[in-house]
Amino acid sequence: MSSTAPEAPARALDSTAIRADFPILQQTVHGQPLVYLDSGATSQKPQAVLDAEIDFLTRANSAVHRGAHTLAGEATELFEGARATVSGFLGARPEQLVWTSGATFALNLVAYAIGNATLGRGAPTSTRFALAPGDELVVTESEHHANLIPWQELAARTGAVVKHIPVRVDGTIDMDAAASVIGERTRVVAFTHVSNVLGIVNPVAEIAALAKSVGALTVLDACQSVPHLPFDFDALGVDLAAFSGHKMLGPYGIGGLLGRSEVLDALPPFLTGGSMVTTVTLDEAGFLPAPQKFEAGTQPVSQAIGLAAAARYLDAHGMDAVHARERVIERRLIEGLREVEGVRILGDAVGVDRVGLAAFDVDGVHAHDVGQFLDDRGVAVRVGHHCAKPLHARFGLTASVRASSSVFTTDDDVDVFLDALSGVRPFFG
Ligand code: PLP
Repeated sequence: MSSTAPEAPARALDSTAIRADFPILQQTVHGQPLVYLDSGATSQKPQAVLDAEIDFLTRANSAVHRGAHTLAGEATELFEGARATVSGFLGARPEQLVWTSGATFALNLVAYAIGNATLGRGAPTSTRFALAPGDELVVTESEHHANLIPWQELAARTGAVVKHIPVRVDGTIDMDAAASVIGERTRVVAFTHVSNVLGIVNPVAEIAALAKSVGALTVLDACQSVPHLPFDFDALGVDLAAFSGHKMLGPYGIGGLLGRSEVLDALPPFLTGGSMVTTVTLDEAGFLPAPQKFEAGTQPVSQAIGLAAAARYLDAHGMDAVHARERVIERRLIEGLREVEGVRILGDAVGVDRVGLAAFDVDGVHAHDVGQFLDDRGVAVRVGHHCAKPLHARFGLTASVRASSSVFTTDDDVDVFLDALSGVRPFFG
């Protein structure tokens, strides 16, 4: 697991062998072998993940945490075992992982919990999160809408204001601006580890240090980092981190919120109902400690078990090896894109740590036409604003094309994509 693994040189990842573990990749599209470069939106799932879900549903499916029967006990053990596996994979303890349906839910959970604290809900310790009019919630210009709109809504409900840290034209965060934007009134700094448009690894420790110096809560969007690099929650120095299962080879409908224990203990719950209470009368209820306090209602059990299989799959290959392979793919991708005439990469910084993801504009051709042209040649990419409209506006665009990799991406995949892309402008004249 990432937090405890001994230091060892990264083994080279054999992406061609890994590709064979993914049944969906064995098909052709429009008569061409499928080249899947849309893992930034959702990754494909290896057979081990599909098997884990099917095995649970055919053998042990039952409601967890309740019921005295054998299946209920087994389901609970598998469900809590999955929490231990996934939290360990991410450098946290089981009680630090709250299951959610995905990152969007996790980020909304935090924003609504802070809103509840502002309304005076929660334990006496919850007041530390209460906002006053004029308090500041800081985000970066590169956030996915999932880490922007919840803060805008929280501001609208509480009288707080949202401020943003600009991104330089090369895609890096303007740290000088960050130092002046984060100030005395800052209560939350919510930022992405890796933007889903730029692919650049942001300086988490530096931003967290600025936030800490003013006593602000740090919330990390780790959706695009967790699948690609060793992730050690405790070492990162943030208070909370959201991630998404379906982007890390896991099922849909599962993700999580990681939190420092004292933060999760002090935050009031967001959703309330069954499975998260101690006592209930007709007038009031007492809540279980975290993480159950945040897990009202029936949980995504088979999805959690599938996600644990994904974590084990990645862990077996080693996240150092995954990251090393990402660097190879990322360079092939970025250097190749730089050579295609008329292509402008969004965030073309050199000498920065990246994952295998790049968004770009093709001069004179709409992103949707580029996507269609590539699809006709068996290449799947993402087109549009990628839920990052403000960032596209910053680059003077409304849409771009995005190619993004995973552990199953081969050198050939990148070459087929680049070759097809070089035909776009000649084709559209
Ligand atoms: N944050 C980033 C950076 C993302 O790329 C995404 C998904 O596209 C999300 C948040 C939302 O994640 P989820 O699909 O788990 O809600």
